[in-house]
Amino acid sequence: MDFNLTDNQQSYVDTVRRFVRSEITPHVMSWDREHSFPWGVIRKAWDLGILNLSIPASVKGFEIDVVSTALIIKELSYGDTGISTSAMCNDLANAVIAQHGTDAQKEAFLRPFVEGPLLASFCLTEPGAGSDNSAMTSFIRKSGDGYILNGQKCFITNASYASQFTVFCKVGKPTGNFMACVIVPVTSVASDDAGQTYSRSKEIATPEGGKIVVGKPEDKLGQRLSNTAAVTFEDVVVDGSQVIGDRRLGFKYIVDVLDYARPMVAAIGVGLARRALDVTMEYTKERKQFGQRICDLPVARESLVKMWKRVEFADLALMKAAFKVQEKSPDRGLYASLAKNAAAEAALFCANEGLHLHGGYGFMSEYEISKLARDAHIIDIYEGVREVQDMIIGREIV
Ligand SMILES: Cc1cc2nc3c(=O)[nH]c(=O)nc-3n(C[C@H](O)[C@H](O)[C@H](O)COP(=O)(O)OP(=O)(O)OC[C@H]3O[C@@H](n4cnc5c(N)ncnc54)[C@H](O)[C@@H]3O)c2cc1C
Repeated sequence: MDFNLTDNQQSYVDTVRRFVRSEITPHVMSWDREHSFPWGVIRKAWDLGILNLSIPASVKGFEIDVVSTALIIKELSYGDTGISTSAMCNDLANAVIAQHGTDAQKEAFLRPFVEGPLLASFCLTEPGAGSDNSAMTSFIRKSGDGYILNGQKCFITNASYASQFTVFCKVGKPTGNFMACVIVPVTSVASDDAGQTYSRSKEIATPEGGKIVVGKPEDKLGQRLSNTAAVTFEDVVVDGSQVIGDRRLGFKYIVDVLDYARPMVAAIGVGLARRALDVTMEYTKERKQFGQRICDLPVARESLVKMWKRVEFADLALMKAAFKVQEKSPDRGLYASLAKNAAAEAALFCANEGLHLHGGYGFMSEYEISKLARDAHIIDIYEGVREVQDMIIGREIV
């Protein structure tokens, strides 16, 4: 076992750190206030080669290993977790194609992401099916040689800007026993023509028939630099070539994707937790009360130590999970859930404790710690709430 980064990994980390320092940190507070979608940064991230990490080399993708991907996402999240959520979502949506698609499907649905700065959406959650995604009612039914897709998804990242939707749905009827995964590409929304920020709902006519209605972007507590909206599929015609793998194995594909994605959410949490620690350290080294720097007051020092420990423990859990997923170890799901919970806990703890150590200033929106405290909550919720991770851990260890 070796905790040293390889030369390649160190170079990814250094590159993303430089990118965050020059392109994100100086602007992040004003973007957050404006609630604007940072297309410019997404485009630059694509130019730099830090988007679409999981696309296979066979279609000229980077096919970056899981540990390196986690390192990249962690560094990007240090800059902003809305931006990293948006970036990571491409891999979430595209991993299922990379894992279970045919060569022709990889060429058709993954190659466009190699060729241009596009965004994808992963459509699983529905109004009546959150943690229990088996309760979903979106479905495809047979029609001629293909299928018709109907259903409503909610809280979908990148939806207003997506050029492709990866959709999980029932087969045959809303209460069907089987689940499928279908890919719905739409007219490209490239970052060049998307200088505008979407603030309304929109309708997209799909090439073969039917339409997609993307709701008004959600006004969120935190992660305001990611786009989130509801998506409704109305009689969307789906060709057989858009169905990934076996149309009865969608549930298995969800598990496979989430095993990959949960360490990535953990990376988002660790990045945020470390940022909260660093801004708090900086603040408490400057601010003096009782004739001493806050960081030298024993009880405050104890809080800083607790924050540091949470970051380090969560980072260890993240690296172990990423390694297990990379090695396709049979217990990868267990460690993915552990890392996700540990990182969410670290993010919430460090953001809250950091805000407290800023005193009244931490409550002012001009201080970054207040933004981090808003951003942290979702890490404990998306891709499976804390209790769902505990359910998985409980099932595996007993
Ligand atoms: C900003 C944002 C981005 C998102 N992006 C996407 C996306 O791109 N694609 C997508 O498909 N979804 C996305 N989601 C949805 C997200 O994954 C769900 O919100 C999440 O899975 C929880 O589902 P829910 O909101 O319906 O909560 P519910 O399932 O209703 O859970 C509510 C609460 O009930 C409790 N609970 C639930 N289940 C259990 C249990 N088994 N045992 C004990 N307690 C339980 C927990 O306290 C939980 O927090 C996003 C959500 C947000 C807010």
